[in-house]
Amino acid sequence: MFSKGAQLPPRGLIALVLGITVVPLTVLLWLGWRMLDQDRLLEGQQAQDRLERAADLAAASVQRAIAVSEQHLAAGDSNWPDGAVVVTLYDSRVEAYPAGRMAYLPVAPDLPEAPTSAFARGEDLEFRRHDRDAAIEVFRALSRSPDPAIRAGALLRLARNLKMQGRIEEAMDSYQQMAAFDGVAAGGVPASLAALYARCRIFDEARRTADLKAEAGRLTNDLQRARWLLTAPAYWLYAADAAKWTGAVPHPPPPSEILAAAAAVLWERRDQLAPSGREAVHVEGRTLAAIWQASAGTRRILVAAPEFVDSQWLSAGREAGIRLSLETAAPHIRRAVRAAADTSLPWPLIATFAGPATASGTFAMRRRLLIGGFVLLVSVALAATYLIFRAVSRELAVARLQSDFVAAVSHEFRTPLTTLRQFTDMLRDHDELPADRRRICYEAQSRATDRLTRLVESLLDFGRMEAGARPYRFERRDCVELVRRAVEDFRGHAQVAGYEIDVHGEGPLEAEVDCEAVSRAIWNLLENSVKYSPGQNGVEVGLERGDECVRISIRDHGIGIPAHEQAAIFGRFRRGEEARRLGIKGTGIGLAIVDQIVKAHRGRVEVESRPGEGSTFTLVLPMRES
Ligand code: ADP
Repeated sequence: MFSKGAQLPPRGLIALVLGITVVPLTVLLWLGWRMLDQDRLLEGQQAQDRLERAADLAAASVQRAIAVSEQHLAAGDSNWPDGAVVVTLYDSRVEAYPAGRMAYLPVAPDLPEAPTSAFARGEDLEFRRHDRDAAIEVFRALSRSPDPAIRAGALLRLARNLKMQGRIEEAMDSYQQMAAFDGVAAGGVPASLAALYARCRIFDEARRTADLKAEAGRLTNDLQRARWLLTAPAYWLYAADAAKWTGAVPHPPPPSEILAAAAAVLWERRDQLAPSGREAVHVEGRTLAAIWQASAGTRRILVAAPEFVDSQWLSAGREAGIRLSLETAAPHIRRAVRAAADTSLPWPLIATFAGPATASGTFAMRRRLLIGGFVLLVSVALAATYLIFRAVSRELAVARLQSDFVAAVSHEFRTPLTTLRQFTDMLRDHDELPADRRRICYEAQSRATDRLTRLVESLLDFGRMEAGARPYRFERRDCVELVRRAVEDFRGHAQVAGYEIDVHGEGPLEAEVDCEAVSRAIWNLLENSVKYSPGQNGVEVGLERGDECVRISIRDHGIGIPAHEQAAIFGRFRRGEEARRLGIKGTGIGLAIVDQIVKAHRGRVEVESRPGEGSTFTLVLPMRES
């Protein structure tokens, strides 16, 4: 009765309860999941529609922005933001503006250079007469010429001779002066480029690493910002050496190199280009745009690097609230693609949502409500299952207790009835029985009748108490006398079983009691102490005055009661595990009656017990009725 297993409902019932809750719950969850899924699909479709509409608007805006650029191009506008350059292709030359945007040109213009005859005297001294000092004097004089081309050429030769003489610092000075000359060539190369390059070489030969790095950095910088109009081979020659000296290859390539590479591609294809057009150009893994128009045998091309495309054209599309790009977006990102053929843009346009594609307010709200509803439903269903389960378990436990009770009561009745029957049969069938044997029979019949009477009274009392209909008649009585009388009544019963009962306590200890009820409680406790003390035949009854109360204790040395059962045994039909295990008969109402009686007296029962050592039940009755 106290073990958990005994309180579990049968397996069939558990399966039924689970069946009627788990199956509908699973179906419900599945349906919910399907609904959410549908919802997500619908939301996805709506988001895609929104994106498609925005992409159309954005494509139109980009179109307009490009058209504006085309107008500027036609008007010969020279003011272009960073990342764009206008390249004019002539038959055999190329022009580019704004200046400094292209690292190199498909065809480079020749720079003015002083004729070699201007330096004939100095070179004669230098090469034929090997008189460097004299040559130096001549070149130094020429380096003060008013003509910059002569000055540059003279400085180049002066530096060369100084270097040959080992006058490195002076040579460096000459190159330094020469590095300031723009717009003139010396030795077939732009003078300042030749000077910077020569300085780097001298630093390199002298292993002046730090100076070399700084000078090469300057050279790289000037190359990239297109200080000189070079062809691609010349540019890459100097750029490669400069990168070797600085120890760093610029990455990603600067915009000037990308624009120059794109212009080179267009120059190569100049004969196949339609008079006007728009096209994407791919260089170095980047996508550029070229827009061109023909006028008077030339073609003017606007070459736009990604940063220009992004800031000038695609930004117009972003007003539609989306992100536009020319690169392919990651595959899982929602996108709308506008092919170049449909939009007449130079490239396909990819539109994505600017931020994370969040669910629209209504969808999010609906989803939250749905999830909330399901959680609530599942919680309610689980709680209901638990409550049903608990209620059914309890009902079953009570039903089992009652059936146990009926079995126990029947058993209790059968024993005295069997005794009665046996002795009655004996008396009827044996007239010749001597008087002393007859007497034994009558006594046995009397005990059995007593027992039956008590049993019936007990049950009737219990029924009345349960119904709250047991009348109590309180009167002031000496409890010592009352207890002694109850013990005397019980003693005959106990002695048959070989038990001794000692009573300790000095009277009078008066209290307002219902004598019959208290006697019954004492009888029940004495009966238990005898019943549950097999082989331990001593019971002590003690009386003492407590704080405004009388304490009546009944102590045995029997099987004891484990702590976890001590409260429960006062419940109706409750029986201890050990009592059942040992096969000790009982109905489980004895202590419930005791409990009812002391409560009616506004008292209490205390129990102190240890398994195997015995138990003490104490009735605590108030001395005065409150
Ligand atoms: P019953 O004796 O008919 O089983 P009771 O209500 O009198 O019913 O007692 C309830 C349970 O309390 C008993 O089944 C037994 O396990 C335990 N019990 C009661 N009195 C004692 C006792 N003196 N010693 C050990 N166990 C006891």
